[in-house]
Amino acid sequence: MITDANGRVDAARYVASGNCDERPPGEAITLLVIHNISLPPGEFGGDAIERLFTNRLDCAAHPYYAALAGVRVSAHFLIRRSGELLQFVPCGKRAWHAGESVWRGRRGCNDFSIGIELEGADDVPYAEAQYHVLAELARALRAAYPVSDVAGHSDIAPARKTDPGPSFDWTRFRGAIDQEPLAK
Ligand SMILES: [Zn+2]
Repeated sequence: MITDANGRVDAARYVASGNCDERPPGEAITLLVIHNISLPPGEFGGDAIERLFTNRLDCAAHPYYAALAGVRVSAHFLIRRSGELLQFVPCGKRAWHAGESVWRGRRGCNDFSIGIELEGADDVPYAEAQYHVLAELARALRAAYPVSDVAGHSDIAPARKTDPGPSFDWTRFRGAIDQEPLAK
């Protein structure tokens, strides 16, 4: 995987989202934030996540979606259960994924982070393909930006968020990204 000058990853299917803006001038990208999402919660497949992140979700289509009316959010990336990688926002822009958050004393983690969603739920094991693609993506992003930390949404907003949940294997993920990048 290669990240271009605008912060687009070549291996991703690009679906442009407007739920982003400019990062503060001179802000360095130092944090990766791991999330999970499934719509409706606990159900995988379909295109509802893609629709939510691009403001095209039919909020009448499911009772749970009523609470999402008018919500403007997007991560930079989504990794589906199959391992398919989607990108919604170039890394150079500030995607609206973290909300009110703090990491190592700094508020507003959207300013200095990249948000990566895994299609999943807190208590359902993630797919092998997702770990593989996540590790490849994290390595590509570390090669492009001065990333020094990886955190869960639950780490930066502990009072509000539980994702990626106990089902996410941090030991496995950290081990995978600490390896040298695979030779092309
Ligand atoms: Zn989250």
